[in-house]
Amino acid sequence: MKKKKKLYEGKAKVLYTTDKANQVIQHFKDEATAFNAKKKEVIEGKGVLNNFLSEFFMEKLNNVGIPTHLIKRLNMREQLIEKCEIIPLEVVVRNIAAGSLSKRLGIEEGTRLPRPLVEFYFKNDELNDPLVTENQIATFEWASEAELGEMFELALRTNDFLSGLMSGANLTLVDFKIEIGRALRYSGDKLLIADEISPDTCRLWDTTTKERLDKDVFRLEQGSLSKAYTEVASRFDLLPRNVKSVVK
Ligand code: 5GP
Repeated sequence: MKKKKKLYEGKAKVLYTTDKANQVIQHFKDEATAFNAKKKEVIEGKGVLNNFLSEFFMEKLNNVGIPTHLIKRLNMREQLIEKCEIIPLEVVVRNIAAGSLSKRLGIEEGTRLPRPLVEFYFKNDELNDPLVTENQIATFEWASEAELGEMFELALRTNDFLSGLMSGANLTLVDFKIEIGRALRYSGDKLLIADEISPDTCRLWDTTTKERLDKDVFRLEQGSLSKAYTEVASRFDLLPRNVKSVVK
């Protein structure tokens, strides 16, 4: 697979075109950002860990019939993915109150919600990704009614599956964010989970100690991000010798 020109560079990843129109290469960078990139740092090895972790979670989702953009991991930092038109919404699923939900509604962090909560945020850095309603999504045609229904279903199925997978590693899936795209290969008619699934996009707490093992460690300056991500990877046995060598 030939890597051709840069298609897009985001805060944590770069996309490159390939010799196939429907496939792109996703490269994971070491940059960590928070608060809409107001806080920034390079954390050696983070890209490698997220590449392995996202491959692991997405491959498992593909295997149970929850479609993702992942085709295969290519090397330490890159994976081959289906090219998608990203729907401009961040889909957040919450099991336990934390982060912006606790702040917005005054619910104590750590409170288990009566049922999983699905929320949509409009992807727009200038506006700080505001929470949006289903009605706004329909009015501004960010997604069709059918797509919205499918997004709810994908989000809740992903939550069920990932919650179980995490709990096998003594991790609690507090909440997570996914991005969903319309796959080019199917002329936009098929939705896939895109972007990444990693401790950058999930809140993961150790079930016993409640220790944070996700990006909140960086956001809240509560310790070493690479130590936390390495711990998550090691619980899924994802630390081959060459990964260890790049993680300090
Ligand atoms: P909150 O809305 O509480 O800040 O975030 C809810 C969940 O979605 C958390 O797991 C958080 O990591 C994830 N999330 C929300 N927005 C973003 C974002 O812009 N980037 C990343 N990496 N994760 C996000």
